[in-house]
Amino acid sequence: MSSEGDYTNFKYSNDCLKLINNTFKKFLDVDSINYQIELKRSLEKIGLFFDLDRIYIYYFSKDPTFMQIECQWNNENIRSKREIEEEEVVYTLPWLIREIKNSDFIAINSIEELPAEAVFETEVFLSEGIKSSLIVPLKSKSKLIGFIGFESLSKHITWQEEQINILIDISKAFLHTKLRISKEKLYESTLDGQLILLNNSESQIWALSNVTSYATVNEAHAKFFGKKKRELEYQDLYDIFDIETANKLSENNWELFEKNELAEKELEIKNYKGEIRLLKIKSKPYRDEEGNIKYLICTAEDITEQRKAEMELYKAKEQAEAANIAKSQFLANMSHEIRTPMNGIFGFLELLQSTNLSLEQKEFIREAKAASEVLLHIINDILDFSKIEARKLTMENIEFNLRNTIEDAVSLLAPKAAEKGVEIYTMIKPGVPEEVVGDPARLSQILNNLISNAVKFTECGEISITADCLGEENGIAMLDFQVNDTGIGICKEHINTIFQSFSQGDASTTRKYGGTGLGLAISNELVKMMGGEIHVESILGEGSTFKFNVRLKVTKKSLKQKFAFEKLDGVNILIVDGNTNNREIVSSYLQGTGFKAFEAKDGTSAITTILKNANTENKINIAIINYKMSDMNGYELATTLRTIPFAKNIKLILLTSVTQKGEAKVAKEYGFSSYLCKPVRRDDLLSCIAMTLGLKKENEEEHEAITKHIVKEVNKSLKPRILLVEDNEMNRKIVISMLKSRNMDCDIAVDGSEALKAVSEKDYDVVFMDCQMPVMDGYECTSKIRLIEEAKKHTTIIAMTANAMDGDLEKCIESGMDEYISKPINFDTMFKMIEANIKECNEVTDYNNIIENNINYFVENTGLKKEDAKEILEEYIKYLPDLLEDINNAIDNSNFHKLEELVHELKGSSGNLRIISIYELAIKLEEAVLKQEMDECIRFFGKIKDLLC
Ligand code: ADP
Repeated sequence: MSSEGDYTNFKYSNDCLKLINNTFKKFLDVDSINYQIELKRSLEKIGLFFDLDRIYIYYFSKDPTFMQIECQWNNENIRSKREIEEEEVVYTLPWLIREIKNSDFIAINSIEELPAEAVFETEVFLSEGIKSSLIVPLKSKSKLIGFIGFESLSKHITWQEEQINILIDISKAFLHTKLRISKEKLYESTLDGQLILLNNSESQIWALSNVTSYATVNEAHAKFFGKKKRELEYQDLYDIFDIETANKLSENNWELFEKNELAEKELEIKNYKGEIRLLKIKSKPYRDEEGNIKYLICTAEDITEQRKAEMELYKAKEQAEAANIAKSQFLANMSHEIRTPMNGIFGFLELLQSTNLSLEQKEFIREAKAASEVLLHIINDILDFSKIEARKLTMENIEFNLRNTIEDAVSLLAPKAAEKGVEIYTMIKPGVPEEVVGDPARLSQILNNLISNAVKFTECGEISITADCLGEENGIAMLDFQVNDTGIGICKEHINTIFQSFSQGDASTTRKYGGTGLGLAISNELVKMMGGEIHVESILGEGSTFKFNVRLKVTKKSLKQKFAFEKLDGVNILIVDGNTNNREIVSSYLQGTGFKAFEAKDGTSAITTILKNANTENKINIAIINYKMSDMNGYELATTLRTIPFAKNIKLILLTSVTQKGEAKVAKEYGFSSYLCKPVRRDDLLSCIAMTLGLKKENEEEHEAITKHIVKEVNKSLKPRILLVEDNEMNRKIVISMLKSRNMDCDIAVDGSEALKAVSEKDYDVVFMDCQMPVMDGYECTSKIRLIEEAKKHTTIIAMTANAMDGDLEKCIESGMDEYISKPINFDTMFKMIEANIKECNEVTDYNNIIENNINYFVENTGLKKEDAKEILEEYIKYLPDLLEDINNAIDNSNFHKLEELVHELKGSSGNLRIISIYELAIKLEEAVLKQEMDECIRFFGKIKDLLC
């Protein structure tokens, strides 16, 4: 062991400097592969030079609580610091680590110098036999990353400043090299990573230095052409590929270079197998400092399979669409084909019914008609369902009267309910808008489905239909409908499936009640299309409530409530009905009219109410009496009231569920001014009250309940000019016969061209136009008629078609038709349409027979010459139509004063001219007018009109 102070000369030792110089010259330049060997060599040289026993270098791991020896050297006969170089925990040397963090070195000359707190370190000194130690921290940017230990085990060293400084410098050199090598390793591994990515990528990547030369390529690109990377890199395309491929590639490269920016292109090119593949190439220029393209970097994906799949998908989609079109066309044809014979069946059954038949035969026809109706219903359901499936069902967006739509739907089924003795009523709550925009036909369909189910499944009790408005936002009303019945109800197991197609209650229900199980599925879809939801609540054996809501746009017209008369105060109305709901409905319909409503549940309490209020401001003026009551019927109550002086003058209105022929007459005999059928419509109710009070003003729009059908009778005698355009002989026969049954006839055209001729020669009130016809179809014919007419006139043309597919209505309207009636024809609708289109001038034509029938009698009675008599009679028939028209208007307006004047005039003139038939009826009419008996007035006026036709 050498003595202390041996190193004092190091500072100036040339040998020392030489050693350091030689050692580090080589070491500092070392590469990563030789780093460990050179490092060890350097440690050895340093150790031997400084006469040390061990040198070791620790570096901290990524996780700084661990460290590991990077390199160690030990002198001969000295144990290495660590047998195995593995990660060690840092906290085994806590004092040392703390110290080196804050100092440039720690020099320990002997174990005694270690402070008391360096417990672990002292233990290391003892266990390893360390005599002296110099620890130099290794710091990168002031962060401790490791340390070097210089140790002596054989002798004590008193560390000198110069020696320490030299070892610190040497440590720095080690640190520097370590950092450089780490950086290089990192760089290499990054490069390696990129190469891995590049060469293992499925995408092809390459860089072009010009249009025909590659710079570099990845494996995938080289492999595509069956080549090695180096066969392509820095090569000219024409040296690598056949001329065709080289041409294709250079042409493609040219276009990409031309773009001079990001570009995308598809290229069909042969791969090494000779298969033509489709590549989707994306290119991006890589520029030098001047902005010139240095390389064009390209990537490519092979999209051959993807494109094939897309093409197949496209083809499949086209085929599916074609199949869908074919399907809807098939549906249209089928519907046409089925409806045409159905039209025949319906029409002829109806005609047959009006012939002389035995009771049994009548019953057979009734059954046949009922069966046909069911069949038509099923066909319609299946058709609708198919349309929904094919997504061919669209919603109309037209203005309609919501109240009428609801009430019409209820009225349609009211007779069936009445037949079963089931009470049916409608409650349209205040706040429900009158005029809305939407699809009235589809809304009716939903209501019809629900109400007809309610009627079908209810044997006793009642059915109520309620409409309410839940709110309005941005002009859209949320409307809530409920159809409530007291029928058989639905069991829990079935309640969740009834909105599914073809789903019915249990099998016994199906057998007993029939049906397709489609109605609710269709309703469900329709409700959804109207922006709402449908659901049901039901208790088996007690009844069901179907609720649905829809969103409908409210029109401006809806905002003002329209009544048939001005608001009226001081009129008190008593509603007599055993059913609370009915009383409530009637009473709610009177709200806002100014009328005061009183309610009584039966005849006795009605009489009590009348008497109690007799001499007060609540004196009852009108009593609306339900026919059926618990203590007496409506007629009995009316009879009783007529015997009570206070009640004698109360106007009576009868409410009844059944309308039979002659009902009006009987009601009249019992003293009722009018009668109303249940379920009551608000407007009918108000018009009826207005008429009863004699409130109708001239030129007011009509809503009469009673008068309306009688006025219709009057109109029946008019001769409308109708043109029927129909190629099918059977259909023609039916329509002609139906018209004949109402004393009407029509001209016939068998195709569009005949119709065109007919319309240009004669004025028609209405033209019923079939759509599908040979030679010229209905659409073309209508367009031509509209062209001829220009703005000068407008003939009403009504489409008659068996096509029930979506878009038919639009097609009709587009071609210029006014309305649409679908086959099988509902003749009631047809007659309504005719009636609505009869022009007034009709009446003149038929009056000439008056002259013929009466001239002889006139001449005989007056002694006038025949020519003079004829002249006078001609004058008469010239003014007669106007007079009759005025009388008609006065009846419509219940204007008895005017009526008296006009009828007196008719009586006078017909009497003067000895037209006895008219004269006698005019006398009776005048009597009725004086008695203000409107029913009678209408009856006699009708008779007069009948005479004139
Ligand atoms: P269907 O043509 O069979 O009436 P729907 O779809 O209209 O078809 O109704 C499906 C089933 O739902 C019916 O068969 C019946 O079992 C049940 N259902 C519908 N409405 C009612 C109701 N108001 N009361 C009891 N059951 C009903």
